[in-house]
Amino acid sequence: MELTATQVNDFLTCPRMYWYAHVLELPLEFARPEMVVGKAIHAAIASVHDDFEKSVDQSDLIQSGIDTYFKSIDDQLNEHPEFGLDIFDLKPFEPKALSMITLYLQDLRNFQANKVLTEVHFSFEIDGLLLSGYIDQLRFHPSRVDLIEIKTGKFPPFDAFLAMSPQFSIYRLAVEHSPEIKEMVGGRKIAIFHLQLRDYLKRRPGDVYYPVFRDKLSLKNAVNELKQVAELIEHNLFPRRVLPFSSCKSFCGYVNRCLSEFGGIGRVPNIF
Ligand code: SF4
Repeated sequence: MELTATQVNDFLTCPRMYWYAHVLELPLEFARPEMVVGKAIHAAIASVHDDFEKSVDQSDLIQSGIDTYFKSIDDQLNEHPEFGLDIFDLKPFEPKALSMITLYLQDLRNFQANKVLTEVHFSFEIDGLLLSGYIDQLRFHPSRVDLIEIKTGKFPPFDAFLAMSPQFSIYRLAVEHSPEIKEMVGGRKIAIFHLQLRDYLKRRPGDVYYPVFRDKLSLKNAVNELKQVAELIEHNLFPRRVLPFSSCKSFCGYVNRCLSEFGGIGRVPNIF
């Protein structure tokens, strides 16, 4: 079976959401503005690293990041009219988004590495399961490689998230098992960071790096968890999550469809 890191994440968030998105492949009923804005912030930061030249003035770098942000917003809105969003829906998020990009680009820590690769693809097989995905950044230092996952959400990560998130476990496994990543790392040490972008509204400006650790036992448990996810998918087990619907709207684009279907919490949809 083949799974991407996003699919694993979606299944663990809500199996039925996975079913709508990755089995039925339904378009989203609506998109949250934060999703579009987050994607545009990622694009802005990636574009600066991809075209980085030491000789370029910092204000030009910031302008280039901001230009990419607006281009990404336009592209997303044009490509996805089904999102039901227009430029005015995204305006309220603009000051925060632009300050996140600016603070990131002003922070010298983000430009200390000899080389930065963005949106790095990986794929590997473990115990018959094929996993793939993209890592936001690999930053190459002489004796170390930093694996960076960028987050633009409102809240800092919980300790339990940093310790258990399958996304980070998959990245750590990719370092050991993905031939393409292994070759890039070339025997150097690996450090993993959850990078929470800050904005001008936060009292403490500047980005926060949260280190992420995975030992052998936690990776073994992660592999077992991934195998269980694959098994549930193979058996077409897609129950609803057990938390209240009121919280679904903050992340799921299938709420109306889900509410309109018969079958309560824990019921498996009869799809065949
Ligand atoms: S509305 Fe809630 S329960 Fe239904 S698919 Fe979305 S996240 Fe799952």
